Amino acid sequence: MTDCIFCRIAAGDIPTAKVFEDEDFIAFRDIRPQAPQHVQIIPKCHIETIQDLTDSDSAIAGKMVLIANQIARDFGIAGQGYRLVFNCRGDGGQEVYHIHLHLLGGRKMGWPPG
Ligand code: AMP
Ligand code: ZN
Repeated sequence: MTDCIFCRIAAGDIPTAKVFEDEDFIAFRDIRPQAPQHVQIIPKCHIETIQDLTDSDSAIAGKMVLIANQIARDFGIAGQGYRLVFNCRGDGGQEVYHIHLHLLGGRKMGWPPG
């Protein structure tokens, strides 16, 4: 999808601060970080929302979490803790309609979320 900003990042058309990449996934620093460490983990395939995941996509969701966990270890924040967030559609605060997992860390997170 050429009009999807995260597809364009996955294709290498938009420069990003990449922290991980393999054949199917890419992770990069958020352009408007909400914490000292704020990374987006995305699949390279275009899926609009987490509601669009099907049974056959369970490996995609699982791999996104495992990549986030590895990045947290690489960044040295695994021990102190961090937050993983999927925003879904309007009330969930989703702005980019290509699924992405937020990894937020490096500070104490508040609850409830805003
Ligand atoms: P969401 O509100 O869950 O859809 O989150 C979208 C996230 O993508 C926001 O945190 C944005 O700051 C981030 N974002 C949008 N464009 C870019 C970009 N070009 N590079 C890195 N992060 C981006
Ligand atoms: Zn996309």
